[in-house]
Amino acid sequence: MLQTSSSWQDTIDPDDRHGGDELHEECAVFGVWNTADAAAITALGLHALQHRGQEASGIVTFDGERFHTHKGLGLVGDVFSDSRVMAALPGANAIGHDRYSTTGDTLLRNVQPLFAEFEFGGLAVAHNGNLTNANTLRKALIRRGCLFQSTMDSEVFIHLIAISLYATVEDRLIDALKQVQGAYSLVVLSRETLMGVRDPLGVRPLVLGRIPGSADDASGWVLASESCGLDIVGAEFVRDVEPGELVIIDKSGVRSVRPFIPTQSRFCVFEYIYFARPDSVLDGMSVYNVRKQIGVELARESAVDADVIVPVPDSGVPSAMGYAQASGIPFELGIIRNHYVGRTFIEPTDHIRNLGVRLKHSTNRTMLDGKRVVLVDDSIVRGTTSRKIVDMVRAAGAAEVHMRISSPPTKHSCFYGIDTPERSKLLAAQHDVAKMAELIGVDSLAFISLDGLYRALGHEKRDADRIRYCDACFTGDYPIPLVDYEQEHGADAA
Ligand code: AMP
Repeated sequence: MLQTSSSWQDTIDPDDRHGGDELHEECAVFGVWNTADAAAITALGLHALQHRGQEASGIVTFDGERFHTHKGLGLVGDVFSDSRVMAALPGANAIGHDRYSTTGDTLLRNVQPLFAEFEFGGLAVAHNGNLTNANTLRKALIRRGCLFQSTMDSEVFIHLIAISLYATVEDRLIDALKQVQGAYSLVVLSRETLMGVRDPLGVRPLVLGRIPGSADDASGWVLASESCGLDIVGAEFVRDVEPGELVIIDKSGVRSVRPFIPTQSRFCVFEYIYFARPDSVLDGMSVYNVRKQIGVELARESAVDADVIVPVPDSGVPSAMGYAQASGIPFELGIIRNHYVGRTFIEPTDHIRNLGVRLKHSTNRTMLDGKRVVLVDDSIVRGTTSRKIVDMVRAAGAAEVHMRISSPPTKHSCFYGIDTPERSKLLAAQHDVAKMAELIGVDSLAFISLDGLYRALGHEKRDADRIRYCDACFTGDYPIPLVDYEQEHGADAA
């Protein structure tokens, strides 16, 4: 039932190292309704969202009669650079996906959007997030005779929609949504509708935009993981899709269905800290402003005498600016980043990852030699980046090196769509801050406190009775049950 394009060469990894349970998807989704050049608009949107996934991308269009698909491994600019590829994607409606996979599983059959022919016609689905009961559902579906074609958790949506007894696409999708647990922002394209949906807690982002006076003089509509995906195509920001909301766009306009009981939302706080692009506005807050404000709080919480504030580029830049402004210590670019290498995290082995850090950053000796330096970065995960950077800064003659981190210590793995290694590899899960400072080789190390982080987000503190964000990577407080994980490892393992 599930179709993949026959024109691609599947690069099948012979020992297919990743079962569905090990895949952690960090991705971007994009959808467009009723615009000329829908495929080109989608490619542009995916390009603006490229920071969310660099491994592969795909687009499905609908031309009023047929669906068309193209997917490939690599960056959007590479996958969609050929004009013949774009010409083979006609239609005014489209969805697309950027994929980020963690450990080198580059199977083309795992590239989204997924497309399947159902009794009601074709349907394409693109998913950002991670389902926590995908394995459990998958086993049950396989027992019922469903044939899975990928190792992606997202494929359960397709089978749940297929076996649903409801009549309309919309009701079948809702039926599927009610059976999955986890974090998801989905865009779905049928013959008659473009739909966008966020999980009940709204862990992953999704925004709605409008392109005025598109095809037929009616509005064109856009769905994107982040608002920067709207800006690039000149779409006006309309609003965030709300947690638990299903937005349905069809020829009569936009309507909204709320299939779940409303609850306190838990948007992923790490989107603000690291993952989203700084020019995006998510949940009404500018990502850039939040990052800067974290820097201000960090300077208040952990001041230190120093000569320069130096960001670890690019992710540390806004917080370092906030820190410099609040402390009155000059902000200087003491580390220069080479933009022509990918994020170090996407490299599969520790060896390559180490090499990646050297490829990516170099020191600007003039700004470091003989100085007391405060380095500002967004997070310490394994500690690899920090260790390398500190060594480089010392080698450039720094008299003292202090490190300030714009997130609390990352002590727990993410099961909702951010790529983090297992707990045993998280430096902060293994050591206290003093030991981490020693291992990284700094004169002092401090992280923003949880309350400081919430203050930067405009709240008084982290109110245990009304927690507004998913901060499980710092607290271990997982707001969505870890069904598959607990079945395998026991209830307290995460
Ligand atoms: P590490 O070297 O393992 O400590 O990784 C920390 C660096 O990776 C930080 O400088 C972050 O900017 C970056 N980082 C943190 N989380 C992620 C993630 N989920 N995906 C990619 N990069 C990340």
